[in-house]
Amino acid sequence: MIYPIFVYGNPVLRKVAEDITPDYPNLPELINNMFETMHNAEGVGLAAPQIGLPLRLFVIDLRALSEDKPEYKDCKKVLINAHITEAFGEEVKDEEGCLSFPGIRETVSRKNGIKISYLDENFQPKEETCEGYIARVIQHEYDHIEGSMFVDKISPIRRQLIKSKLTSILKGKTTAKYKIKTA
Ligand code: ZN
Repeated sequence: MIYPIFVYGNPVLRKVAEDITPDYPNLPELINNMFETMHNAEGVGLAAPQIGLPLRLFVIDLRALSEDKPEYKDCKKVLINAHITEAFGEEVKDEEGCLSFPGIRETVSRKNGIKISYLDENFQPKEETCEGYIARVIQHEYDHIEGSMFVDKISPIRRQLIKSKLTSILKGKTTAKYKIKTA
């Protein structure tokens, strides 16, 4: 099932998400639906707040990039109750988009590497060190479960320049190739 994606301005995107327990109702189905929703929107990551649930849950799928980056050929992950325990390395600038901001791409500076602990879809504890693009994707999704978003990280000048685009999202005047839900 494909969920509508909640866009900028919806208050759920500003909540600090809460941990989930293994008995959360229909969790496997929710996870499958999140993947389906993300693939339908051609995203590489989706966090539960983006479908209206303030839960510490996000999914990523980088397999589509494996032609250029073979190391991502099996990179499909579910991250539950994640915590970034360390961010390290250089600050790297790169362009990001977000399914909650249709039509907006901005340069965001992030640390090149992270250490993250989380539970996988079977609630097995994992600890990983990631660098490069995957570290960027995880930091982006992690921001969502912390109630923050990539536009918080762009310069005031850039924010001013995209103000009219942001306003049209707020007013529900934006369009996307996928179903969206405004405030
Ligand atoms: Zn996003």
